[in-house]
Amino acid sequence: MSKAVFLNFPTHGCLNPLLATATELVSRGENVIYYCTEEFREKIDQTGAEFRPYKGLINDFKIENDDLYKAAKLSVEMTLDKLEYNLDDIRKDNPDYIIHDSLCTWGKYTASILSIPAVNLMHSFPITKSSVSATYKMLPFLFKIGIYKLMNKLLRNSSKKRLKKRYNIELSLGDILINKEDMNIIYTSKQMEMNLYNSEKSYYFVGPSLFFKNDETKFPFERLKDKKVIYISLGTLHNNNLPFYKICLEAFGNRAYFVVLSVGKNTKIEQLGNVPGNFLIRESAPQQILLDYVDLFITHAGMNSVNEAICKGVPMLLLPHQFEQEMIAKKVFELGMGEVLSIKTITSKKIFKKAHEIISRPNYKMKAQLYQSIFKKDEEESHLKAVDQILEYVRICKNSRQVNNSHRF
Ligand code: UDP
Repeated sequence: MSKAVFLNFPTHGCLNPLLATATELVSRGENVIYYCTEEFREKIDQTGAEFRPYKGLINDFKIENDDLYKAAKLSVEMTLDKLEYNLDDIRKDNPDYIIHDSLCTWGKYTASILSIPAVNLMHSFPITKSSVSATYKMLPFLFKIGIYKLMNKLLRNSSKKRLKKRYNIELSLGDILINKEDMNIIYTSKQMEMNLYNSEKSYYFVGPSLFFKNDETKFPFERLKDKKVIYISLGTLHNNNLPFYKICLEAFGNRAYFVVLSVGKNTKIEQLGNVPGNFLIRESAPQQILLDYVDLFITHAGMNSVNEAICKGVPMLLLPHQFEQEMIAKKVFELGMGEVLSIKTITSKKIFKKAHEIISRPNYKMKAQLYQSIFKKDEEESHLKAVDQILEYVRICKNSRQVNNSHRF
């Protein structure tokens, strides 16, 4: 039995796909300590791991106005904060290896400071150099990152400089975006990124992991029966978007579709004004169960949402908000399971026309059902494959360490 410390970036999207893997590690007898913020205690308790709340001053990650640059800056500040306040505790835990998700930069550097193996569990698409330069939408972000780098040079006590001074960490953009390790496990099927699957051997596509289910029992599923249902959700980070929800009300209000709209906890439902009778609006919907009733999913193209839709054979209208979602949306389009529109230029006419087109033409549904069988099969085994990879990797690292140590004597 070895001791694993999980370090998770505090968002639902980063956490959900890791839970089945943590559960499986516990059931195979590993001693698992799981660090995240209090908000996620209940979910983590379900895995059987020992939950530890992060100490520190920055415990809430929010993306303001879809500004990726601000999000990246916050991520650097969080890395410093989490190392300052948690590294000593983790050192005392004396783990054999670290598991972190792909946004958790302090996970990567905790492992490197403690000189122990680390595995990167990627909730989303691997962003590579070629994929980054492939989208011109990255340009404003890269420009702001350039300014940020310059500011860091000028500022005497910036988070980046403190990371360098205190821990000898030279953060790169790649660290903030994917935190690559020698072993990277990706929670989607290889069909989403065949090029990378064939070319990069350190990436293991184990398949979607849908362990966490929001299984709210009070949801009125009976209202959806025998109706053409559209489900709209922008996930958990980009969902504070009142103008978009108003567009949806205008587009689909009193039409022949029944619409479930998930708006998140920061949107005040009463601000939406009169709600048409064919709408059901919720702060949060039991998404995975709901998708069984749905003819079309209008989504921000988060990896979890897309995996969940494919596992249920549901076509999608994708409105990506950031470049990794752009890549996911592009793949879904190429695989014939959906269409993509720009969230920035969306209108009620455009969204209705596209939604109606996807529901009316059978080809989208057929393709979604084709990939459903592949993704579902992968999903059943993804946590088992992930754990096999993790334990084998840790075993190899341990052996090579022993060999290196024995050479010293
Ligand atoms: N989700 C949910 N109900 C909602 C909205 C979201 O259960 O009303 C869940 C969804 O099933 C998915 C996760 O929240 O597992 C969102 O993750 P995703 O990667 O799609 O997007 P993010 O929130 O990270 O942007």
